[in-house]
Amino acid sequence: MDTIAVYPGSFDPVTNGHIDIICRGLKVFDNIIVGVARNSAKKTMFSVDERIEMLRESLGDNPRIRVDVIDGLLIDYVRNQGSNIIIRGLRAVSDFEYEFQLAQVNHTVEKNIETMFMMTSVRYGYLSSSVVKEMGSLGGDIKDFVPECVLQRIREKYPLTK
Ligand code: ADP
Repeated sequence: MDTIAVYPGSFDPVTNGHIDIICRGLKVFDNIIVGVARNSAKKTMFSVDERIEMLRESLGDNPRIRVDVIDGLLIDYVRNQGSNIIIRGLRAVSDFEYEFQLAQVNHTVEKNIETMFMMTSVRYGYLSSSVVKEMGSLGGDIKDFVPECVLQRIREKYPLTK
């Protein structure tokens, strides 16, 4: 049977670091559902619809990838999709504590669901959506950090972005 993994996140906006995790994930799993969390406590720059649109544009037409919105509990979503794998990315040690807690809570609630961590690629170890937003809003050069469609969207909000 095909393996389905769910890669959840805020993706506010999607960066080349996220895309890298998805591409590498496809070498391990047959299908990946990229799930944009609606209920994230974070205040976002882009709406859920905008974030989904940017992901779809960046990822193109690949029958093995689906972009969806996650309402409510991640565990329920994963189960309803017939999956038992959550993918998360790890960059610095600072990611570890939060991810560790999240994975343990999820595993306690649902023993059949495993969180699989993928280590960031060296070139994206420093990259986060927050860095992109901050640099973009200050007129920085972010074109090596995000897909072209994301760059355009940020430029619409901050015309000085390079
Ligand atoms: P969340 O708000 O759930 O942390 P994000 O969109 O910030 O959502 O990130 C989604 C996932 O992608 C997280 O597991 C995060 O650690 C991972 N991630 C983000 N940027 C990178 C990167 N540059 N390299 C590897 N993983 C990353």
